[in-house]
Amino acid sequence: MLQQIKLQGRELDYILKISSRARRLRLTIYGDGRLVLTQPRFLSRRFAEDFLREKAAWILARLDKAKESMSPLDSGLSGADLRADYLAKKADAYEFARTRLEHFNKFYNFAYQKISIRNPRTRWGSCSRKGNLNFSYRLLDLTPEAADYIIVHELCHLAQFNHSPRFWRLVSRTIPDYDERRRSLRNKIR
Ligand SMILES: [Zn+2]
Repeated sequence: MLQQIKLQGRELDYILKISSRARRLRLTIYGDGRLVLTQPRFLSRRFAEDFLREKAAWILARLDKAKESMSPLDSGLSGADLRADYLAKKADAYEFARTRLEHFNKFYNFAYQKISIRNPRTRWGSCSRKGNLNFSYRLLDLTPEAADYIIVHELCHLAQFNHSPRFWRLVSRTIPDYDERRRSLRNKIR
């Protein structure tokens, strides 16, 4: 059952599983940011919530770390070639990100600061706590559908700095098939 708790001023959703077999509380954080707390039947809800509050700092740090990981694709480029590729495509990638952000933000109307195009090894995009949005220049190598998903994903982090069910609901408002697009990132990159 879906529960909510406020940890250090942040509203978090978590899934509570009451188990008659569990002997102790168990907290699992999945890569997509889902938080699952398994609570033995003999313990009270109050006890479980105290447990989450005690672990707040750890939980929040773990959730912030959940990243938009890139599949381990290899562009076939390295060193100077990769740098040249980045420099050649950076401006187009910026223009793409800027216009798509503008497009989707007509719906969300969130405030963001700077848009940066980078060449990170492991991520398609990221959002900083200050509201800066960063994208990989290789966004242009994706299908338009997958690239739009990355754009909306980072945009929605401005409102939900986590991967909670609430975050995914927000993403689904403009990308209802986000799950499919997300999966496509893992194996269909050109
Ligand atoms: Zn994310």
